[in-house]
Amino acid sequence: MSPHVFEGKRPHTGDFPSKTAGGAVGRADLLRRGVTERLEELVGGLAADADPGDVYVGWVAAADAAGCPARFRASGVDGWGFPGWSPALAAGAVGRVALARHLDRHVTAVAASNPALPHPLAAVKTWMKEARETPTSPVAEWVTQLTRQGDRAALAVTASLATRWIAGFVRVLGWPLPEGLVLVVDDPGSPSARRGTPAFRPRLSSTRRVAIAVASKPDAMVGTVAPSGRFDVLFHRANSSDDLTLAERAAFEATAASLAIGIVPRAVVLTVADTGERLRFPVADDLLERGADLAVDVVRQRLRASEVAGDEYGDAVPSSACRYCSERETCPPGVAWLIRPGRRHNGLPVLTS
Ligand code: SF4
Repeated sequence: MSPHVFEGKRPHTGDFPSKTAGGAVGRADLLRRGVTERLEELVGGLAADADPGDVYVGWVAAADAAGCPARFRASGVDGWGFPGWSPALAAGAVGRVALARHLDRHVTAVAASNPALPHPLAAVKTWMKEARETPTSPVAEWVTQLTRQGDRAALAVTASLATRWIAGFVRVLGWPLPEGLVLVVDDPGSPSARRGTPAFRPRLSSTRRVAIAVASKPDAMVGTVAPSGRFDVLFHRANSSDDLTLAERAAFEATAASLAIGIVPRAVVLTVADTGERLRFPVADDLLERGADLAVDVVRQRLRASEVAGDEYGDAVPSSACRYCSERETCPPGVAWLIRPGRRHNGLPVLTS
């Protein structure tokens, strides 16, 4: 699928901000109002005794809810919240901040026009040493904790994955990095990077209090974040994925970033290390509309999960994910998928999705 073409479910067909109406700020304002109205409607219909807790809407939750709503609802508090740092989860955060530190030293500090190409492992090791001395971000505190615990294996895997992140990022984007590109980091002390934007928290007029946060966590911004909307939000992936997943990711991030920043960006850029792709999705109305559907559906599923159980598996979507789903022994569609004729061929699984 071309990044300029999107195919997907569009159950919501209400009014939507036109690409030309109101400019980037006006479109974001209309988007905020539209999403807030839809959330109000959902929260207003919540059962009186239901307690959904705080609802965090990020890309992982959106992908899970879209993949199999039944599995997402069943994942519970452990599945909905941040699972805690791990080498795989920390790779991007460590890679970004280590690259930002390299830029601080070689670009900002000495105003060099041709900064030295970073040696990825050296950049990560240098940052880890600094982080252990003065941890200034949650991921730096986690690295410090690993050091105190003597968990050298976890440190080594984290360094390895972060090294791969930097190498892939530089491979796709080139060096020096494109003009106007600024990394997004949690660390407040980096002059060549910026901090992320707080999540969008809609103010619902419903008498029911449900705290909802819609967040977007880009790896970098390209251009100046200004009311003109002439900036891109950039997300880097180590691995490629199918085109539909990439288009869904672009749609969600376009909407989440617009909601959080209050300005519709010019485009969402997805870079992929293993294929070297740089996919640019202009933020057209259909992309925002699909992203809004994905975000709202996370809330819908979380609210439904908090209500009295009914037909838990009516909207289950069987796929290869059934093999490791916690519901695979009780979910009828999942059980049927796992034991279906022809699933195995010559003793090996036949993977059809
Ligand atoms: S077993 Fe499959 S269909 Fe059922 S909830 Fe899990 S992933 Fe969804």
